[in-house]
Amino acid sequence: MTRTRFAPSPNGPLHLGHAYAALVAHDTARERGGRFILRIEDIDGERSRTEFVEEFLCDLEWLGLAWDGEAVFQSHRLASYTAAGDRLRAMGLLYPCTCTRAEIAAAARETGPDGPVYPGTCRHRETDPAHAAWRLDVGAAMALAGPLDWVDETAGLQIATPQVFGDVVLLRKDLPASYHLAATLDDATDGITLVTRGMDLFAASHVHRLLQALLDLPVPTWLHHPLLVEANGRKLAKRRGAPSLGDRRRAGEDGRAIARALRAGVLPAGISFSQGVHQAP
Ligand code: GLU
Repeated sequence: MTRTRFAPSPNGPLHLGHAYAALVAHDTARERGGRFILRIEDIDGERSRTEFVEEFLCDLEWLGLAWDGEAVFQSHRLASYTAAGDRLRAMGLLYPCTCTRAEIAAAARETGPDGPVYPGTCRHRETDPAHAAWRLDVGAAMALAGPLDWVDETAGLQIATPQVFGDVVLLRKDLPASYHLAATLDDATDGITLVTRGMDLFAASHVHRLLQALLDLPVPTWLHHPLLVEANGRKLAKRRGAPSLGDRRRAGEDGRAIARALRAGVLPAGISFSQGVHQAP
């Protein structure tokens, strides 16, 4: 049975782009007689706010999108991230890294989907693990996993190339996990069979596919959907003035009508769907 999820991070309010992402996940599950899960990605305790979670629940109801079961929270699952980190460490695939962002930017020779590609500075260096982030040795991990592929329902069969990110951080200095590790483990825990999310996270799926292979997790199918972008091609963002769903709800707008318009592909003036953006803008 198809299971999809909408996985917002409660570090700011939702806007129309999130409404579209939620709608794709919800409608795809409903069309296929499946389940739609709401997962709150709140591992970042510093930036996450419960007020936003409450807003999200109201926003989704207002859009007419009902999720199945109780919402699930990443902050309740920290032990599973630590256990996966321990397992990968025991496999010899993680190494501690103490480089700062500035050091990485200065040393990087390539730019990847998330910016400067980490050049592997700490891979063979003695570092103090107590103050380190833990990176995946992607070359060693790929050698162990062998060739991997994955399927996006729109883009088709993909050969996994997680090396485009370099050695990604899996356990952050300040947090129990990185997005890559937490999202991959949770998709397995939540029994997600179809991961729907924006095109900006297309490349992240290469890393997630590798983690699934290393941790013996089931492999879902993906569906990366277009993003809502401004006239200059940048994706909608609250910080650039995209009105929040909460503000629109409180102003008395009709959420179900907004959902209907999105389904029909009707967008407000100045906003359009991105075409095939596979990289973070
Ligand atoms: N929490 C992520 C976000 O808000 C969602 C990532 C995903 O769907 O995998 O962008």
